Amino acid sequence: MISGNVARFRDAVIVGGGVIGSACALAMSRKGMSTLIVDNASVGKPASYGNAGHIALEQPTPLASLAVLRGAPGRLFAVGGPLDFRLRDAASWGPWAIRYLQACRPDATVAGTRALATLLAAAGTAWRALVQDLGAPDLLVEQGHLLVWETAQAAARGRASWSAAETGAVRLRDLSGDERRTLQTRVAVPLADGVAFEGTGQIANVSRLLATLDEVHRSRGGARRKGRVVDVREVEGRPHLTLDDGATLTPAVVVIAGGVGSGALMRRAGHVAPVVAERGYHIEGPPGDWGDLPPVVFEDRAMIVTRFTDRLRASSFVEFARADSPADPRKWARLRHHARVLGLPLAEAETTTWMGARPTLPDYLPAIGCSRRIGGLIYAFGHQHLGLTLSAITGELVGDLALGRTPAIDLSPFDIARFERGWRGS
Ligand SMILES: Cc1cc2nc3c(=O)[nH]c(=O)nc-3n(C[C@H](O)[C@H](O)[C@H](O)COP(=O)(O)OP(=O)(O)OC[C@H]3O[C@@H](n4cnc5c(N)ncnc54)[C@H](O)[C@@H]3O)c2cc1C
Repeated sequence: MISGNVARFRDAVIVGGGVIGSACALAMSRKGMSTLIVDNASVGKPASYGNAGHIALEQPTPLASLAVLRGAPGRLFAVGGPLDFRLRDAASWGPWAIRYLQACRPDATVAGTRALATLLAAAGTAWRALVQDLGAPDLLVEQGHLLVWETAQAAARGRASWSAAETGAVRLRDLSGDERRTLQTRVAVPLADGVAFEGTGQIANVSRLLATLDEVHRSRGGARRKGRVVDVREVEGRPHLTLDDGATLTPAVVVIAGGVGSGALMRRAGHVAPVVAERGYHIEGPPGDWGDLPPVVFEDRAMIVTRFTDRLRASSFVEFARADSPADPRKWARLRHHARVLGLPLAEAETTTWMGARPTLPDYLPAIGCSRRIGGLIYAFGHQHLGLTLSAITGELVGDLALGRTPAIDLSPFDIARFERGWRGS
């Protein structure tokens, strides 16, 4: 539990200034706490920048499931799919994979779905409140998204799989004639079939979101400092941070929200935190004549195309590797190949590339809660493919924890202690 000194000192350091840390800092500053974000900004643009911008409320079933496991061989990069493993980095993902197999037990998947569904059910409302608080309601675009198949076989498989899937409050329907025609005029290959999802959304511009979070946080007295936190321990009943430049910080509250970097810090604090880097790639360029379509998933290509205010982004891949290993240029080449075949307006000369890591725990549930080892230490990381979607609700929950209030959602499934001895999946 957080000790009673939290409300009295009201000072907090948030480790990590990605979308999760920024949302936490904003929620805490809104509640009157003075907040400092410490971010190791020198290591490139994180997942919070490079993601597909999709508010994916339709995905309560964790990817730790027998169905995903059975489908894995057919989804390997070597046979044209998105899934890859960097063999030289096997030490970073091998032990994680053993835990992942345990988390694929059917009862663990059912429990995980129930847990994730509670977060996703609150995520849309939290997002509406967050963009209002930021004074930027246009950042959230609630126009659903589209998903298409290029062959009749893929469509039959995809429809069967989606109709059996748990999608929470999100509804699927057939594409309207207009949607079908508009899509077909945008892509150069014949589309066999497609569906529209109602109840999902997108962020209009992820870079602007991050800039606005920072701006409003500062306007409330929040601060940001560059630096890498290298140690966290307890000194005289408070969390004590050491930075790579030798500085030390001893606030009343520390929030570990460093994405993949959270694992090392949580281990320093005495926790078992098997977070892995699930790396993804995007290419991005001017939107050309793509228009203002909502995000479009090309399911046969495992690729999502998102129109942001000023750019068009095509994202894909799940690559298990160390976060800091070199990028694999074959992934950008494959994205370019898809863009060429589909006739997307992502001309090579004007296209930029990006690679970054999703922070993922073996059961594909985030870790959100209070440390039982260090008083005043809160954690919020491991949001896997759903970090943007879950950032607003995570901020609210962490804000409650920091003030010693009981959050509206039961956080026991997200307790990091679940990975300690005796763990058999969620
Ligand atoms: C290709 C791709 C597409 C995606 N699409 C979507 C999507 O459409 N919708 C969705 O909901 N999610 C999506 N995601 C997932 C989402 O982007 C992530 O879950 C989310 O960004 C994680 O946010 P974070 O703040 O936890 O971590 P990060 O974005 O990784 O930020 C962590 C920050 O902490 C800093 N840090 C780490 N360690 C330290 C340290 N020791 N000291 C100081 N600072 C530190 C890092 O430098 C970084 O700035 C996607 C991810 C990828 C890769």
